[in-house]
This record gives sequence, structure tokens and C-alpha cells, in this order.
Amino acid sequence: MAVLAQPCDVLVIGGGNAGLCAAIAACRAGARVLVLESATKDFRGGNSRHTRDIRYLHKTATNYVTGPYREEEFWNDLMQVTGSETDERLARLTIQASEDLADWTAANGVRWQQPLRGTLHLARSNLFMLGGGKAMMNAYYETALRLGVQVAYESEVCKLSLPAGEFVSASVQTRDGPAEVKAKAVVVAAGGFEANIPWLKEYWGEAAENFIVRGTKHNQGRMLQELLEYGAKPVGDPRGCHAVALDARAPKFDGGIVTRLDSVPFGIVVNKELKRFYDEGEDFWPKRYAIWGGLIARQPEQIAYSIVDGKALPHFMPSVFPPIQASSVPELAVTLGLDPAGLEAAVQKFNAAVRPGTFDPTNLDTCRTQGLEPPKSHWARPIDTPPYYGYPLRPGITFTYLGVTVNEQARVVMSDHRPATNIFAAGEVMAGNILRRGYLAGFGLTIGSVFGRIAGREAARRARA
Ligand SMILES: Cc1cc2nc3c(=O)[nH]c(=O)nc-3n(C[C@H](O)[C@H](O)[C@H](O)COP(=O)(O)OP(=O)(O)OC[C@H]3O[C@@H](n4cnc5c(N)ncnc54)[C@H](O)[C@@H]3O)c2cc1C
Repeated sequence: MAVLAQPCDVLVIGGGNAGLCAAIAACRAGARVLVLESATKDFRGGNSRHTRDIRYLHKTATNYVTGPYREEEFWNDLMQVTGSETDERLARLTIQASEDLADWTAANGVRWQQPLRGTLHLARSNLFMLGGGKAMMNAYYETALRLGVQVAYESEVCKLSLPAGEFVSASVQTRDGPAEVKAKAVVVAAGGFEANIPWLKEYWGEAAENFIVRGTKHNQGRMLQELLEYGAKPVGDPRGCHAVALDARAPKFDGGIVTRLDSVPFGIVVNKELKRFYDEGEDFWPKRYAIWGGLIARQPEQIAYSIVDGKALPHFMPSVFPPIQASSVPELAVTLGLDPAGLEAAVQKFNAAVRPGTFDPTNLDTCRTQGLEPPKSHWARPIDTPPYYGYPLRPGITFTYLGVTVNEQARVVMSDHRPATNIFAAGEVMAGNILRRGYLAGFGLTIGSVFGRIAGREAARRARA
């Protein structure tokens, strides 16, 4: 592990989007940078390699976005999904500093694709990476290595030495055995604890056993735990997370984007007891999909079923696993392992409550129910057109919101409110400063990119001091 023996100014722990943004920024600011990454080279890039798009502030349409997305709209969208629970200074900073992301990312090798049409509703506000998150991460690694950043794969940081709240060194488990790495400053960008089922069970109980982890198995939260044990000030609800309705047939880890199901707004969702439990048409899917994992996690046995009919199928992204199909609702119930009479009754009750309206998947339309609890506010149409389709759904956890408090310089703030001198955090590990509940599609990368760059610059400045 020759690379670990070289002197370094800034140590970056975690090689996802936030870590690479930090490494590139620190290196450009003149620091010698080492990135330590748990995964093998083939699996580098953490959850970031599963991403597709990033939300950013822009005042005009470009080749890659269809119109402007200004600060107040961005802010209002964030307030709506978070119920205004955020650190306003840091949230505004994130929004404002996202304005140059298109240029910065492109200057560091990322390529964008033309706006997408279809059901995503993101073509105006979000940039889509050509080749997805994997291509983005490959571009960042290439740039970082070209600039002289050192990267050590299969190097899991197990402990931090932080006497008196100052970073001194990190204990690393490498392929060749344990090692100790010293640096003048550290950027912790090691994700959340979403892949750590025993830790999730502390807050979710046995239900967490039925969670499917959409991303990397390496985000075990070890660095988050270390920082909290050393007295970093926690932020965010420990139960808070981004979790979606996932196809129950998905693999336990790393299934990525394709196992997410977007059928929910176009039909009904029932639990094992054949009860609906939330408004499937509350808002556009990008503003609501991230709460559905949590909703399913609260249902018996953490399973639910999305039921749609033939006319709904063209309106959502095709699923990677084919839907379960039947020519009648009772037959569909049998194939899904549900009570046929119960599902038929649930569908009939819903159909009877649907009021006439004009169906429009591109708008918050006038198709809604009346007298039904919970209501369906938009896109409510009778489920009456065979064939009928069903998907079993599980909570698919994307990332957790419990994190460490940071200030505007991405410095970790300790429980006595003192900012640490040389410990910085970026990405999921501090996203809870801004996201305590709800989510805006593409905002995880925004937070990581903005705070990664700040952390890298500030860590380099500290290393030079
Ligand atoms: C399927 C999926 C799709 C998503 N799509 C989008 C999207 O389109 N847009 C969007 O904005 N967000 C999306 N997200 C969320 C997004 O991935 C995260 O918000 C963002 O990538 C987090 O970046 P990060 O750098 O903090 O974490 P990560 O990218 O997960 O990187 C953390 C890295 O730290 C490493 N690590 C962990 N512990 C240690 C340790 N102890 N020592 C060394 N290394 C360690 C991990 O191996 C990992 O590589 C998606 C997430 C998933 C799972």
C-alpha cells in the first residue's frame, strides 16, 4: 500500500460524489490529497454511481434543461417537501451555490444529455448525466487522478484519532493489513448508515430486516458513528431517511435505480390487509416518491401492492421485473397471494369514489376521489380496464438523514457548538442539516457537490495554515 505511505495534506474518506468533489477542489487549491475508499475499484463511486440527475439553480433554458429554475421556486419546492424543517442558512447556501454546478461538473469531465420527455417532470429543473452516475464518477476519478489525487481502494477507515476534537490520523484496514494515515485535515464523505441493518433496527425495530438497500453495502455509517462518539453535534431524525417503493423482487443490496417502481400515482396501493394507507396522487412523483418507502415500512410485514390497470401502464417508466398480470382483479389477487374478495372490494370501493375529471399526467389534474379515506387527490381513474397488473412493494432505503452538524465552511460542529478546526463533512453524512424529512429528486447530489467543494477548499486552506 505504497500510496498510504505518501505524505498527504487532506485525507478524504469515501470516494462517492461528495468525496471526489472535495478531492478535486482540495487538489486544485494546492493540497496533496489522498482518498480512502472501502470498495474495490470496480465498485467505486458509492451510491453516487447509481444516480442519474442533479437539481440546480439556473435562470434560463439551455441545451440540457427546458427552462429556468430560479432561487425562490427551488426554495419553495424544498419548503414544501421538508415541511420547512431545514437549516435555512445552509439550505439557501446549497441552492445559491448550485448555480455554477453545470459548468463546474462539465469542466471536470461530466457530460450532460438532452432533456428527457416522459413521466419524470424533471426536464426543466434537473440535469441528466450522459451515461448516468457511473459515467459521472468515472469522469471525476479520471480528473482527480490526472490532477495528482491519490486513491486507495479496499481501504476501509475503521477509527479516527481526534484528541481534543482535532483530527490527527485514521486507522485503515487495507488488503495488506492495518495502516495509520496522518493528514493536516480530513473530509468525511463516507455516506450514511443505510446499509447497516442492525443500526437501522435501533430505530425501526424488526421492520428493518425487510428493508432493501438500494445502494452500496459499504455505507455502514462507521465514520458517522466515530464522529458522534467524539462529540460531533448530531442533526436529523435517526428514523429520517429517503426510502422509496421498491419492487419486492429486487436484490438486497445495490439493485440501483431500475428496481424503483413509479406506478403508484396511476393506481392504488394496498397493504397485506387490503387497506389503502396514503394518497397515491398527492403530488407529482418526484416530490413524493421518497416518502413511500417509509409508508410501506409502517405496514404489516413491510409489504404493499401497487395495483394498476391496462390504461395506466403507458404512463410510468417500465419496470425491470415484469408486472404480475391477470385478466381480472380476483385472479390478480390470487397470483399476488392476496384475498381475492378483499382486493375486489378495495378496488370497487375506490372506483365508486372516483369523480369525473380530465386526466392529465403532466399536471396536478382534476381526477380525484370523493368521500374516500385516504383520498386520492389526482390521477384517480377507475381501475376497470383489463389486463390488471400488480407489483409487490418493499421499503427501498436510499440514504439516511441522521448526520453531523456542519457550518457554512463544511466544518463539523461539536456538541459545545464549537466548529472543529480540521474536520469537514460532505454528502449524505451531513445531508440531515438540510433534509430532515421529504426529498426533492436530484437534491442529494446537489448537497454533496456543493458541500464537497466547500469542504475540499476549506480543508486545503486549513492544511496550508
Ligand atoms: C439507486 C439510487 C439512485 C439515486 N439517484 C439519485 C439521483 O438521480 N440524483 C441524486 O441527487 N441523488 C440520487 N441518489 C442519492 C445519491 O446517491 C446520494 O445523495 C449521493 O450520491 C451521496 O453521495 P455521497 O458521496 O455522500 O455518498 P456515496 O456516493 O454513497 O459515497 C460514500 C462512499 O464512502 C465509502 N465509505 C463508506 N464508509 C467508508 C469507510 N469507513 N472508509 C472508506 N470508505 C467508506 C463508500 O464505499 C462510498 O463509496 C440515489 C441513490 C441511490 C441509492
